[in-house]
Amino acid sequence: MSGYAYWSPAEDAELLELRRKQLTLAQIAKLMDRSYESCKARVAELRKSGVVVAPDANHRKAKLRHTTTQRKCLCCGRLFPSEGPHNRLCTGCRSKSCSPYALYA
Ligand SMILES: [Zn+2]
Repeated sequence: MSGYAYWSPAEDAELLELRRKQLTLAQIAKLMDRSYESCKARVAELRKSGVVVAPDANHRKAKLRHTTTQRKCLCCGRLFPSEGPHNRLCTGCRSKSCSPYALYA
């Protein structure tokens, strides 16, 4: 047994569907009665052939943990929880629609 059996289109669809539901490869392998390596290889193969495969649930969780960082507000200079590089104003200043350029006026 090589552990790498043929994947039918229906199984491919199921694999993609389970990925969309945020299941990890280990969970998918168990549900589909396949080896972890087989699922992993299939995901890589599908990706290579241009199929959009949802990112690994573990990666997504790791990313979420880092979505907010303390940033200095460009307007008032106070630290606030920022959602990302695009988020440079604290909620107070954003609602005031204060431009950072106003500081130099
Ligand atoms: Zn501010």
